[in-house]
Order: sequence, then structure tokens, then C-alpha cells
Amino acid sequence: MSAPDSCCFTTREAERPQEAVWRRCAEEIQTAVEDQLTGESGPVLVDAIPTTGKTHATARVANAIDDPILLVSHLHETRDTLVREIDSDTLVRLPALERDCPTVTDEHPLGEELTNQNARGASPYFLHQRRRDELPCMDDGDCSYVKRRDAAVDADVLVGHPTHALSEELVEGRVVIFDEDPGDAYRTQFNTAQRTQAANQFLQGYDQLDVSRVDQVKALASLDEIDGVGASDVLETLGSIGESARQTEALEEGGHAEAPSITLAALELQRQALQEMAGDFDDPYAEDLRQNLGLGYVELPDGTTVVEDLESEALYIRRPPDLSGAAAIVGLDGTPRPAVWKGRIGVDDLVHRQLLCDECRGTYLTEHVGYEFIQTTEGANPYSSGQHVNDAQCYALLEAASKNHDQQVPVITTKKAQTRLFESSLDGPHLSDPSISSFVTNVRHYGDLRSSNEFEGESVGIVLGSPHPGDAPIKVAAAFEGYLAQRGDGRGMDLDYGIADHPFLQHFREDKVAQAVFRFGRSSPATVYIHTAALPDWLAAVTRRPKDGTIVRTRNDGERSIIRTLREEGGGEEKDIHAREAVEIGERQVRKLLKRLDKEGLVDRSDAQPYQWTPEDIGSASLVAEVCFPPKG
Ligand SMILES: [Zn+2]
Ligand SMILES: [Zn+2]
Repeated sequence: MSAPDSCCFTTREAERPQEAVWRRCAEEIQTAVEDQLTGESGPVLVDAIPTTGKTHATARVANAIDDPILLVSHLHETRDTLVREIDSDTLVRLPALERDCPTVTDEHPLGEELTNQNARGASPYFLHQRRRDELPCMDDGDCSYVKRRDAAVDADVLVGHPTHALSEELVEGRVVIFDEDPGDAYRTQFNTAQRTQAANQFLQGYDQLDVSRVDQVKALASLDEIDGVGASDVLETLGSIGESARQTEALEEGGHAEAPSITLAALELQRQALQEMAGDFDDPYAEDLRQNLGLGYVELPDGTTVVEDLESEALYIRRPPDLSGAAAIVGLDGTPRPAVWKGRIGVDDLVHRQLLCDECRGTYLTEHVGYEFIQTTEGANPYSSGQHVNDAQCYALLEAASKNHDQQVPVITTKKAQTRLFESSLDGPHLSDPSISSFVTNVRHYGDLRSSNEFEGESVGIVLGSPHPGDAPIKVAAAFEGYLAQRGDGRGMDLDYGIADHPFLQHFREDKVAQAVFRFGRSSPATVYIHTAALPDWLAAVTRRPKDGTIVRTRNDGERSIIRTLREEGGGEEKDIHAREAVEIGERQVRKLLKRLDKEGLVDRSDAQPYQWTPEDIGSASLVAEVCFPPKG
């Protein structure tokens, strides 16, 4: 490391920086745990940029501490790594329905039903108990899913999915480590038809309330009672409904374990609608959301939060885990936003700790992992809709990068841009020969990256454009966390939702770009071209950026005709070139273009007049654009 001794590394460690960083990462996690065990700190979010070995570090910590521990990750491959690297006599890999239940894995007809019931909110454990008599996997003693789940309570080390943290029994007394942002693991989304059906189905089968339709429940917001049932009865009964009754709702098609919450939320949301009409809200935050953003917001008695997009009628229910019994809580994230994390894991406060100072991060990435990041635009290039994709620019960048590195290059972009660029013919005759696909190896879109390691070890990669999910997901995500995300007038890099530091926009845009960038290389050096300026600050700090703004200058028809004639008929004097049939521009223009090509090193001008123009490297010249990547330093 070039950074001094006093910084994140000692000189001795600097000889093996990768190892040193992994060790630092483990130390950071372990300190976060110990500080909580001794009561010196609350839950900690460890901010560890990609490639710092978070999963290996987690395994190291699990090996080092004596306390019981629960490690959760979305990805089977991460869990595989943890199980492999943790040395414990009593490690249990928490079961997954799709891997550990023979009824599902053997494709028994009941398997699909189990999977669907699980998706509707019933836990696999509940399903195995409730359907014990029907399930073939329960014929001969307990299913391996159940056995493994039963063994978990006494095991020292548990490795599972974020949904396992929903079990208080598995969390109690343990150090809980989230290997990554739990995402939407604790959130369920319903459209109008789904929510109505689930609620009606629930009410029809629920004999403790004498109403059978959710619109009757809504009517209770303004009526004293219907058939002897009042709003307070609904609140009281549904507010304290048991876990088993909830999960039972998932058994029937169209039902859902969240049906009681949907019903309760319907009453509260209707009450707010009436308050809005009367101009008399009892919850100022709900009032702000409803009046400024068109969102309904309700907190239910059991800690569940509900957000409704009033325009689309989409309903989001979030039921975070109860981690109050955990001995310590640590979140690990390469692109963390505490504002996004807190509510997702249901904690009030989260201490943010950064692994490596900003300077050492830069040194580590560029000098030790060997990354070279090249930003090729000053625009955000929002490519999610596909409408802002500039075909010629993308073509020219891919052409130039593949030429620079003398190889086809892998690409990550948005789904719509992928379709537009690689699955249809491009706009412009000069964009088809050779085809844009001839410059690339394979193409992935932002949405299908999560579990993919296929670009690891690639020495070149290109990220085209930035994703943006639309305003609604940003508004909804922010609403859950207590923020009003109100879109201002700015566009592109000036896009702003009126929240300091833009945590939600950056979570959905900048952080996704960073995650894409770090798909390339990882374990080996890589040059990554990034065709968007939407980068997190720490990444922008180590990225070569356009100096005067222009990286790709597209050529016009006149320029193309000069290149073509130089290729086909060779060089000559300016007036001869001008006189050629293929050249339809004025002589002054010809001179200007020849000078430009001279600057690019594509032609050579003789010293004496009349000037002779001789093609140099004209065969390799792009007909589409001149591309000048930003220089080093
Ligand atoms: Zn440092
Ligand atoms: Zn089973």
C-alpha cells in the first residue's frame, strides 16, 4: 500500500493487501459483535466495498466467537461458502423448501402446492405440521426439512435465508449477521384483485367476525356497526390474531397469510380517506404522504407497516423480523444506506462503520485488485425505459472497447436496452456492419445479476446506462422509512426527491451501477467502462472521468464518405479527393475533415504543398464515431 503506516495498513501488511483487507473485514465484523455483547454499541452496519471478502470474513468471525450465531444470505452459493468455511461441530444449514423437502424436490404433485402455499405466506414448517397426514415426505418419520429445522434450535451456528430471521426462536440469544441487504425479503406486494380476494376469502371463513366482505369492513370507517359488528371489534379481533390463524389463510388458493393485515389496513386506510375529505387527520405523517405523494400509510398493532399506492391500488405490507432477542446484530453491505436498512430489519438505530478509509479504498481497488474504472459520459443515461438509449454511442463504445482490448467484451445494461441494442436492428445503416453483437461476448441486464458470478475474472467489461425503477418504488421505499420522496423538476444527474443525500434514489440507481461494475474482475484486475455518471461517491473518486465532456463524437455522412474513399481509392491531394464521385461535400469541408482524421492518427499529411494525404490506420477507423477515452491522471 502506498498509504502510510498510520493508515488502514501497516507496511508489513501492505505486502499482501488482499489478505490484509480480508482480515480487516473480519476484525471489523468481530469488533461490531463484541461491542454489542459488552453493551458499548447498538446494531452495526459494516460498510465494506465489494471485493473485500465479506463472506470469508463472516466465516472467520463465526469460527472465532463462542456465542451462538445466525448467518443469513439470499444466495445458496453464499450459504454454501459459509458452510464450507465454518468449522463447527454443531452447524446447521437451515432448510430450504426447494432443496430439502423431497415432496418438492422429487416433483410430487403436492410439491407445487406446498411451494405456492409458502409463497402465500405459510412457513414450510407450519405446512409440514398442518399437512402431516397428506405429505409423502412425512410418511416415514419427519421430512428432512422438519428434522433439520428441529435440530437448529440447539446448534451453535445457523446458516440460512433472511426469512429464517423471522423466527424469534432462531434469533433468541444469537449473534445475527446479515451477509447483505435483505432487500424485499420481509415485504409483500398485492394488486387490487389479490388483496380483495384474500381479504374476502378470509372474512368468509372467519367466524369471529360476522361480516363477509372487505367493503363492509371499509364501511365501518363511517358507520357505527354492520350486523352487530363495529370498527372496534375488527380492530380488536384482527389486531391480536394468532400466527396459526394467519398462516392457515395461505392454504387456500387466493388466500394469503397477510389477509388479516390487508383487512385491518383497509379499515384504517378508509378512515384516512374520510379524514382527508374532512380535512382533519390524526396522523400528520400519513397526511403528508396522502396529500403530497398519493400514498396511504398505516402502522398496525403487531408492528407491521402498510403502504398503499392510491393510484395503482398496489398494497405493500412489511413485516420485519423481531430481532429484540438477538445478542448482536450486524449488517454487511458493499453499498449500504442506513436509511434503507433500518426499517428493513426492524431496528431503530444502526451504527455505520466503514471498512478502510476513503483513500485506502481507492488504493486497494486500483493498485491491489487492479481495477481501472473509465466513465464515458457525464449524463445519467437512464436506460430503464429504453427510450434514452443512444444506439450510435453504444455501438461506438463497444466497438472502441473491443478494439482497444482486442477482444469481445461482456456487457451489463438494462433489460430494455439489451433488447433494443442486441435483439433488434439498430437505427442507422452504418450500425449494422459489422453488427453490434460482434463486439460482445455476452450481455446481462441489471435485473438478472444477483446470483451470477459469470463475469468474475473478466479483464474488461462495459456497463451501459443506469437503471431507474420509476418514481413509485422510490416513493414507497422511502415512505416505509419515514421519508417523503417528492420528485423535483431536475432530470438525469439533477434528479432529486427532496431527501438529503438521496439515499433512496442512490440505492436504486448509483448502488446498482456499482454492483454491476464489480461483477467484472473481482478476483483479478479489470478495466470497466461505465457509460453513466450515476456512481456512488466512493467509486466516482477512483474513476477516470471525461475532462471536457465528449468521449464519443458521432461522425456525419461527409466524414464517413472521406473515410470510405480513403479506404477504397487511397490518398491523394485534397482537390483530387474532393473530386471523387463518392464525395459530395465542399472542398473546405474536405480539408477540415482530413485535418480531423490527421489528429486522430488515421491519415498523414506531407510536409510540402500541395499536401498529399496518405491513409495511415484508416482500415480500423470507426465509421460511426470518434471515441476518446479519458486519459490517465
Ligand atoms: Zn486508510
Ligand atoms: Zn417435506
